[in-house]
Amino acid sequence: MSTKRVLLAKPRGYCAGVDRAVVTVEKALEVYGPPIYVRKEIVHNKHVVSTLEAKGAIFVEENEEVPVGATVIFSAHGVAPVVHDEAKARELRAIDATCPLVTKVHNEARRYAAEDYDILLIGHEGHEEVIGTSGEAPEHIQLVDGPDDVANVKVRDPEKVVWLSQTTLSVDETMETVERLRAKLPLLQAPPSDDICYATQNRQLAVKEMAGECGLVIVVGSRNSSNSVRLVEVALGAGANASYLVDFAHEIDESWLEGVDTVGVTSGASVPDELVQEVLRFLAERGYGEVTEIDSAEEKLVFSLPQDLKRDMKKAGVS
Ligand code: SF4
Repeated sequence: MSTKRVLLAKPRGYCAGVDRAVVTVEKALEVYGPPIYVRKEIVHNKHVVSTLEAKGAIFVEENEEVPVGATVIFSAHGVAPVVHDEAKARELRAIDATCPLVTKVHNEARRYAAEDYDILLIGHEGHEEVIGTSGEAPEHIQLVDGPDDVANVKVRDPEKVVWLSQTTLSVDETMETVERLRAKLPLLQAPPSDDICYATQNRQLAVKEMAGECGLVIVVGSRNSSNSVRLVEVALGAGANASYLVDFAHEIDESWLEGVDTVGVTSGASVPDELVQEVLRFLAERGYGEVTEIDSAEEKLVFSLPQDLKRDMKKAGVS
């Protein structure tokens, strides 16, 4: 008798910030009509981006690619203040879909910079969120890209230093980085509340709970999605024999399933559940029809849409 089964992580997939950002683009298309320009990928997921493109969204890298006077939406990852200034200079109608939990980190950065702290921002070099947060106070912020980067940290006053972080990091690796920073800077202050967001933490927790029982953990998500890549690392760290990231079910290599009884499935915070369902169908067709959901946390958070958009939706009778 086959013992093949699937453990399905919960929570997984869409978080409140991604949902808000995607709905922001959809509602902007309804209210203002296409094309709507979106600076950078609204969220880091190929499927979401191509679906919105089909509806009339045009993704650009910078404001200068947006025609003067047009509507531009800033992505969930946040932007530096200079990006808002550029949009004003081009007379763009800018709608900011930055996740409120990223905005929280921007506010912390501004506040500590105003108090003349050195800010150690733990995050991945080149990630859009880190670029946006750093842009709040470039002269006060230095990036610490993981535990090994601690050796390069230099501060002006060791009594006036605080660490902040990107929202989508590995909780465990970040704590390791903080411990190393503390060994070097004993008076290092911590952010007033967690910067790694609830969605990232919950998805990592859910994967940890099931990984030890899994011969393979499939994470649905895109390569440029920080929180999705972290889920693969967390699965491997928590005892999964193997773990792979796939955008779509057809990317699953059948050889990964050889000798595997239990497959864990989860998805990053920018992944619509239909992609997970496709993976479950793919697995069911190969004998993994028994699916048990591993429920580790309940999520109820919902963010309201950007104010300006809500006002224009009301005027246009769009609900
Ligand atoms: S992963 Fe966290 S910070 Fe990023 S959009 Fe979702 S809730 Fe916001």
